[in-house]
Amino acid sequence: MQVQVIGCSGSQPGGGQACSGYLVSTSTTRVLVDCGFGVAARLTGLLDPADLDAIVVTHRHLDHSIDLLGLFRVLWAGEGVVAVHAAADVDDALLPMVHDHRRDDWERIFPWTTVSPGDTWTVGDIDLVAHASDHRVPTVSLRLQGPDGASLAYSSDSGGDDELVACARDVDLLLAEATWQGRDDERRDDGHMTATRAARMAVAAGARSLVLTHLRPELDPAVSRAEASAVYDAVVEVARDGLAFTVESGRGIPVAVDPDREPDPQ
Ligand SMILES: [Zn+2]
Ligand SMILES: [Zn+2]
Repeated sequence: MQVQVIGCSGSQPGGGQACSGYLVSTSTTRVLVDCGFGVAARLTGLLDPADLDAIVVTHRHLDHSIDLLGLFRVLWAGEGVVAVHAAADVDDALLPMVHDHRRDDWERIFPWTTVSPGDTWTVGDIDLVAHASDHRVPTVSLRLQGPDGASLAYSSDSGGDDELVACARDVDLLLAEATWQGRDDERRDDGHMTATRAARMAVAAGARSLVLTHLRPELDPAVSRAEASAVYDAVVEVARDGLAFTVESGRGIPVAVDPDREPDPQ
């Protein structure tokens, strides 16, 4: 199972990077997970959005959802249809921005399923489970499993709690938000994690590897990586646009396949 970062900037675009969007794929299946600011444009540089098998939106915050509007326009022009699996309130947040005379098209182009914690479903050969996330609006964390058993947990936005640990239990790769830096006990109670807290979630869950994402754009990724590595000794990467990983069952070591990647400074 492959994971490609389309965008990962935390809460707002910055430094040329888009907000949350991850392409999870196998040889037969393509799922876009989240669709924040800038994702639609970047995605069209990789594939025809009509070739997606599904789009999953974890919550209504615009850094995870707004570019569904961009994909809607692309799919409308290309006569594509893609199933959407979205947390509660996403449709209500976006629909007022769709012209009245296009709302029938919206419902036709995006066959819609509202996802709640505890739901399980399958897209192609990828199995998904939704968990409740500790965030300020209805939000789901996700666990995805490919046909060979490779497993990925994605925190979405989360303050980090036992439910996230359950979502990521023994997972091959935990893709965890790390919006902030600094000591865990200094974090703001705002439904987000520090890098240290994300790493503690990985330790508690027994995750085999960890990729930090959703860093605020002004933060130095090397600092986040160092803070996480101080409490978690398996592989720690920091997401950035274009980075891709292969998730293999039982391996837990994400293999970077981005050919343009700069050498690791550590
Ligand atoms: Zn966010
Ligand atoms: Zn959020």
